Amino acid sequence: MIQVKHISKNFENLKVLKDISLEVKKGEVISIIGPSGSGKSTLLRCLNHLEKIDKGIIEIEGKPIVSYQNGKKINISESDIRTRCKKIGMVFQSFNLFPHKTVLENIIEAPMVVNKIEKEKAIKIAKSLLDKVGLSDKRDVYPTQISGGQKQRVAIARALAMNPDIMLFDEPTSALDPELVGEVLKVMKDLVKDEMTMIVVTHEMAFAKEVSDRVIFMNEGKIIEQAYPEKLFANPEHPRIKTFLEKMI
Ligand code: ATP
Ligand code: MG
Repeated sequence: MIQVKHISKNFENLKVLKDISLEVKKGEVISIIGPSGSGKSTLLRCLNHLEKIDKGIIEIEGKPIVSYQNGKKINISESDIRTRCKKIGMVFQSFNLFPHKTVLENIIEAPMVVNKIEKEKAIKIAKSLLDKVGLSDKRDVYPTQISGGQKQRVAIARALAMNPDIMLFDEPTSALDPELVGEVLKVMKDLVKDEMTMIVVTHEMAFAKEVSDRVIFMNEGKIIEQAYPEKLFANPEHPRIKTFLEKMI
């Protein structure tokens, strides 16, 4: 579904992603773990075209959304990029809801504006998504009136309203009080059951272990190991991973 081929990304002189290659298949759930500053968020942001890469190719369903070869950008139209990126949903640590819109309005905004879906149809979809994330009763309140866990569930519903093929999560539970983490992880586990393709940057090791088909460990801008969770958590090849995991427990 997504192929990442030899991508690099610099911020000025700082090499943040160094020759990363990665393939994500339909229905796969991938967790990305690794120390702070290793480039996990930047990698997700590059996949979603929120950051431009300096080198390499990112393809969705075999079609490049961005590509540099031999230092030259291969021309892809902005509208093609937008069409392909619409199929990628993203959920951020900090929710990023529109504060001046109600829960329902948050969810119908992009389907109406970007996908030109009629308001009534968008509302119907939003209602069923709110039901899915257990927030039907919060439809008409504003983000300031709900808890962090509820905000994040709205953010997930909002991303799902675009009918994405793949969902990217960047530490979706890191900003939450511990007692609110479970309700968000439950919604994510439901998505796994629905066979959603997912890439999840997380510090929730138990969650990564339970739901991932594959765990990727990033360190200093590189993927230094990827393996089945049982293998990576119990018996990592790389000593850096052992020290990281010891500190997490
Ligand atoms: P964390 O676990 O703390 O979220 P991360 O693995 O997600 O870390 P990134 O946010 O991808 O790491 O950052 C990787 C490196 O790139 C860091 O050194 C960071 O300071 C730098 N960086 C990220 N965004 C920018 C930016 N917009 N401009 C300059 N440097 C940046
Ligand atoms: Mg990050």
